[in-house]
Amino acid sequence: VKLMDINFINISRYSFLKNIVYPSIEQNKKCFIVTANPEVVIATRDDPDFKTVVKSADYVLADGIGVVNASKLINNPIVERVTGVDMMFDLLQYASDHKKSVFFLGASEDVNVKVTKRVERDYPDLVIAGRKNGYFNRFDDELADKIAGTQPDIVFVALGAKRQEGWIYHYMDKFEKGIFIGVGGSFDVLSG
Ligand code: UDP
Repeated sequence: VKLMDINFINISRYSFLKNIVYPSIEQNKKCFIVTANPEVVIATRDDPDFKTVVKSADYVLADGIGVVNASKLINNPIVERVTGVDMMFDLLQYASDHKKSVFFLGASEDVNVKVTKRVERDYPDLVIAGRKNGYFNRFDDELADKIAGTQPDIVFVALGAKRQEGWIYHYMDKFEKGIFIGVGGSFDVLSG
């Protein structure tokens, strides 16, 4: 479904995970997922570089009732809203069930540490590839090399909207595989 020149995938979260994301993990494919709320869509209009980033994603999901409502207005309704935080919890469970590795990039040091502690407790078979707080030089090539070297199956990037997608766009090429998803303030939820 095309909204303001952004192509949204029209799919339920369950079906997206089961038919697209989990098989991509099993096949060691690379996949860039953007969860776009109305602010993100508006930002693509005002910032051409950001628009390039979002358009480069493999899948753009409707994160926000405003996006779903807009799709109804053009008579092409998106089946449901899919949020970054819901995707994150499902992927954590999958990673634990299938012993997959996850890198946690973003949020404050305190929150980032709490996230890994909670993950160790609640998702015992998940492999923590590594973690790094979100307060570093925006384009730190060395850091990106280090993260890529951990070969995570999933990379959660919680640097806030725009910044996180920019990081993924800039550095995804360094990785051989991985599901890359910007999850905004979700680490704050997971740490609490
Ligand atoms: N954040 C970060 N580095 C930054 C700015 C923000 O790691 O340079 C983190 C912040 O700590 C929070 C998350 O990004 O955990 C989301 O931030 P915010 O709520 O500002 O972003 P948005 O609502 O735009 O997604």
